[in-house]
Formats: sequence, structure tokens, C-alpha cells
Amino acid sequence: MSNVRTVAVIGGGISGLSTAFALHEQAAAAGIPIRCTVVDSAPVWGGKIVTHRVGNLVTEAGPDSFLSQKPAALDLCKKLGLTDELINTNETGKRASVYSHGRLHELPEGLVVIAPNQLGPFLRSGLLSWTGLARMGLDLALPVKRSTEDESLAAFFRRRLGRQAFERMLEPLMAGIYAGDAEQMSLQATFPRFVELEQQYGSIIRGMMASKKDGPPATRSSPKRTMFISLKNGLSDLVASLVRRLTDQGVTLKENCTVDALRVRSHQPGRWMYDVILSGGTALSVDSLVLATPAYVSAELVRPLTPIAGGLLELIPYASTATIAMAYPRASVSNAAEGFGFVVPRIEGRDLIAATWTSLKWPHRAPPDQLLARCYVGGVGRETILQLDDQALVARVREEMADICGVTAEPVYVEVNRWMKAMPQYTLGHLERLNQLEAALSRYGGLILTGAGYRGVGIPDCIRDGAIAAERVVRYLSGERS
Ligand SMILES: Cc1cc2nc3c(=O)[nH]c(=O)nc-3n(C[C@H](O)[C@H](O)[C@H](O)COP(=O)(O)OP(=O)(O)OC[C@H]3O[C@@H](n4cnc5c(N)ncnc54)[C@H](O)[C@@H]3O)c2cc1C
Repeated sequence: MSNVRTVAVIGGGISGLSTAFALHEQAAAAGIPIRCTVVDSAPVWGGKIVTHRVGNLVTEAGPDSFLSQKPAALDLCKKLGLTDELINTNETGKRASVYSHGRLHELPEGLVVIAPNQLGPFLRSGLLSWTGLARMGLDLALPVKRSTEDESLAAFFRRRLGRQAFERMLEPLMAGIYAGDAEQMSLQATFPRFVELEQQYGSIIRGMMASKKDGPPATRSSPKRTMFISLKNGLSDLVASLVRRLTDQGVTLKENCTVDALRVRSHQPGRWMYDVILSGGTALSVDSLVLATPAYVSAELVRPLTPIAGGLLELIPYASTATIAMAYPRASVSNAAEGFGFVVPRIEGRDLIAATWTSLKWPHRAPPDQLLARCYVGGVGRETILQLDDQALVARVREEMADICGVTAEPVYVEVNRWMKAMPQYTLGHLERLNQLEAALSRYGGLILTGAGYRGVGIPDCIRDGAIAAERVVRYLSGERS
């Protein structure tokens, strides 16, 4: 009997592809011969990562960059030989703004990802009133919450930094990342670092200031990276590179192939064979299986095996959004476009969540005589706008742009990308539900879940979680062998 172990990865977004990549690496290191197949229902690889190249424009329908602080994506780019393709944001105009009370206010520079690490810039920004600033400063003196119970992002930031700082500054930044409602989102699942900062330093501001001092020193070997980085010709190059590497490694890649169902057979106590039923009725039988599909898809696949796991997966809600790319003649918007863009707090009651001046952030994404912008709409509680057809949606977004930043020019290029049920929401109790999910699936050794629905939505989180999934497969397969 062959000792080659078979593994299927379902879903060829960044999570599934990086799982397959890590699997090859880790199985080789453990001396386990494997045959891996990656299956995706779409005709193209990459899931949410979709770059469009139209003439001299490079637009991103989904993610446009990733955080450099989390090393997984940078490390993967290095392994794939993409380091020379990495680009920093244009530091000359790195300001961002927030829309409040009818005008744009520059966001204070001391805001690291979403919390303050210096107070000076806040005092100067004019975004918060004196009472708002004083309330934010109270964070330095407030008692620490000792209970370990999960708390919503809104409750936590209102408690520590006050209502004004939360509503005008933090809420729109969080909505920009998760397209979520901070009143429902779990602090522990989205920003666990803030729980640690409160516990360790007794204050978010003190904690952020201390972490800034403790930051890693720049080294000669690693070039300076800005907070957000991308690839010169778009993030699809990461996907293309992964697909090439997997093909070279002998991984079978099946696109245009939907997984309709899973069956499980026990051939020895505690050992399973998984039959992956593909569209068209054929089956792929494997020793181990990684589901890198959205949680609601995985819910239907595992439900016949364990209804409890199916039910828990179904409880992870997904928000729908749309990105609208618009290129303007540069001269017609030069006064209005400044910095990287702006975010719009929920309390302003607008349809636009955020807008980025893409080609100010990454200059070569548009020819010099054009300015490429990307607008972001939808998200939890703001999804009605997605019912409009493309023409009406663009008209609405253009009205918002005119009101918020005075851009009335006719775009020379427009692209609407709809993302239905695309952004997983880590609502209160998310981590507890993940524990219950693990328990419900524990019977099925070798069946592993990964993807944006669980332990981080950003690209680096998905890559890191994919590597952990691969490690679990290899551990399972080596245990099985022994
Ligand atoms: C508009 C938008 C902007 C974003 N911006 C950023 C950003 O700037 N930076 C960042 O780090 N992150 C960003 N994100 C988040 C990040 O892009 C995603 O969380 C991440 O790409 C998800 O990867 P994934 O592989 O887990 O899921 P997906 O990309 O959704 O992949 C899942 C795959 O499963 C396949 N599939 C589904 N059902 C089946 C089935 N039955 N059989 C076979 N295959 C199936 C799908 O076709 C898909 O390819 C953004 C997301 C969106 C939507």
C-alpha cells in the first residue's frame, strides 16, 4: 500500500492557497509524502483578491494592501521571490481625514492603526472638543476592568476614551476594516491587543505610548516598510505567484469546481476517509481535508457530519459591501484630493464609509494626468445602498463625494465591484463559539477549518491561519502514520 497521504483544500482564496503552500513545506520537513488538491468553485484563483488592469490603471476590487506589522504576508512574499515587487505607500502625503460636522478633519498622526499613541496631535487636530479631549485623557486615570467577559468594541472604547473619541475617530476606522457595527463586534476577537494594554498598563494611551517605545529597531537587512504595503502591479500577483509555485510543486489545482457535499467513512476506529463530492457528482477521497471556504459555506458542508458545528458556523454573520473605483482627470480634482483619503463616521448618516485616493497612495496605479479614487459603501446596517443598480449606485456615490470633499468632476473611468456576504463579523462571544466549534469537530481528526471567518480577516491573518491549518494536517497525518 502506498504511504502517500492525500489532502484536499477546499477554497482557493488567499487562505486556501497559502494553506496548500505551507502544507507542501511542512509535510516535506516532516518527511510525509503527500498529494494535495486545491478546489475552487470560481473560474479564477484568489477569492477576494482581484486586481483589474485597464489601460494604465491598476484597480483592486477587493483588498488593496496589507499590514506590514503582521509578518506572515511579508514572509510569504519573500518565499515567493516577490520582495522586489513590494511597495510602500507614498509617505509625502500620508495624512488621512475624517468627515465630521460637515467638513474633513485631518486624523491626528499619533493614531497607530486605531488608538492614540501620543496626545499632542489630538490636541491640535480640532476633531474633538475640549470636553471630548479631556474625557479621552481620563483613560490615564480610569480603573481597569477586571472581568474577563467579552465586551463590544463600542462599549470598550466608550468606557476608556469616551463617546466623542469613539464616534468621531475610532468607529469609522473600525468600520473601514470590518464593515461592521462596533456595538456588536467582539473586542477580544478583533483587537485583543487592547485588552492586554488595559490589563498591563492600566490605560490604552499609556500602553500605546510604551509599545511605540518598545517597537523593533530598523535593521540593515530589512528595508523600511510603511504601515500598509502592496505589490507594484496589484495583489493578484501574490495569487498568481502562489498558483505557479503550487503547480510546480505538483499540487493539483481544480478551478470551476464546486464542492457540493462531504461524506465521511471510518476505515479504522478514529481514522477517517473524507469523500469530497464535486459538482458533476465525482468524488475525491482524501485522508485529510481543509475547508478554507466562507463560514456559511463550510456550515452546509459539515452539517451532515455534525449539526452542532454546522449551527455554530452559521452564527458567523457576513456583511456585504461594494467598492467603486473612479478615475478623474487630475486637474479637475487636484484641490479636493489630499492625503490618502477619508473615513466617514456612522453618526454622520452618510452612505459612504470611506474613500481612498489610490493613486496618491500608490502613484503608479494611474497615469500622471489622472487621479484614481476608491469609494467604499455598505457594511452592517448600511447595506440598503447595495440594492441600487450600478448606475444609481455610482450616482449616489458621486453625490456623496461632492458633498463630502467637493469632487463634482465627471470620472473618465468607473468600476463597481459588489461583495455580497464578504466580510465576516466577529460578534460578541465569537472566540467562545470557536472553542465550541473545535469541540464539535474534534471527533473528525484531519478535518480542519481556516479562512477569514475565524481568527483574523486581514491577508496576513489568513496566511498565518493557513500555515497553522497546514501544521495541524501534518501533525494529524504523522500521528496517523505512527
Ligand atoms: C472589499 C474588501 C476589501 C478588503 N480590503 C482588505 C485590505 O485592504 N487588506 C486586507 O488585509 N484585507 C482586506 N480585506 C479582507 C481580505 O481580503 C479577506 O478577508 C481575505 O482575502 C479572505 O480570504 P479567504 O481565502 O479566507 O476567503 P475568500 O477569498 O472568500 O476565498 C474563499 C474561496 O472559497 C471558494 N468557495 C466558496 N464556496 C465553495 C465551494 N462550495 N466549493 C469550492 N470553493 C468554494 C470561493 O470561490 C473563494 O475563492 C478586504 C475584503 C473585502 C471584501
